[in-house]
Amino acid sequence: MAAERIPLPWQGSQWAGLVALADSGRLPHALLLAGPSGTGKTAFAARLAELVLCAESGAQPCGTCRHCRLAAAGSHPDLMNVRPEEPGKAILIDAVRTLRDFCTARPHQGGWRVALIEPAEALTHSAANALLKTLEEPGTQTLLLMIAHQPGHLPATIRSRCRLLRFPEPDRQTALTWLREQLPERQDVEQLLHHAGGRPLRALALSDTRRSEQVVRLRELAEAVAAGSMAPADAAPEAAGLEWELATDALAILLREHAGSALAERGGVPQLAVFRCFDELVRAHRERAANTNLSADLVWDRLWLAWRRAAAAGGG
Ligand SMILES: [Zn+2]
Repeated sequence: MAAERIPLPWQGSQWAGLVALADSGRLPHALLLAGPSGTGKTAFAARLAELVLCAESGAQPCGTCRHCRLAAAGSHPDLMNVRPEEPGKAILIDAVRTLRDFCTARPHQGGWRVALIEPAEALTHSAANALLKTLEEPGTQTLLLMIAHQPGHLPATIRSRCRLLRFPEPDRQTALTWLREQLPERQDVEQLLHHAGGRPLRALALSDTRRSEQVVRLRELAEAVAAGSMAPADAAPEAAGLEWELATDALAILLREHAGSALAERGGVPQLAVFRCFDELVRAHRERAANTNLSADLVWDRLWLAWRRAAAAGGG
């Protein structure tokens, strides 16, 4: 796999805009990078952090100064990552308190301080509240980069304190061209992109056989549940055994396909049951973030029930 070149081909305008702001000393102190997951926002934010920390000026981090070497080694003392302890879990208030201390202490290297918060929608209610003051007064030469895959789930008080930078899904041709460059050996890039819901970095992740097999299996289960040949309760344990993010993401993609075909084939709008299934997914993610002892079987039982109703409601 070739190393990712950042900005990715569909991120050029966002990158150029920020470089211009950095050159003129007008970078905002808090940026909200918003858009679907699997399109490269995280890599973009990491490269932007390197650019801001870099001792040289230019449209890319120099890669050779002390700051760049520390950042590349993952040990720059003025670069902080705020993430859930486990994927899919919440970002708790303690992490935000650590971030506040980071922002109020003197920068170790005497330059910028940068913090990446990802995914921002994983902040608990109290963590989000605790973050407000830091967002208002982050200190000089401090940049907070908030990454949100579902910015609509963020409190308005957080969104209003950040400069919004949108990262829409790239068009299909751009995504395919990039994916073919990354995977020159593969003949199935179109299918990978399809199973990834059009998001190229997600598609690249699915080129891993173990991952793609899980997505294929999830889609088979979904078909069987929709066709009525498998009961939701029977499909639940197997889905619960798959990687959570992969499996729920695959179901969300199927739902979008379903809703899309309702629009394309009938000129109609998706049925209420489709929205209810999306709601059930949101609820499942919330519960999982909050509760470590949640039974995945029970959650998948509910998801499959909602999916069966959505599939039966037509549109596919
Ligand atoms: Zn540098």
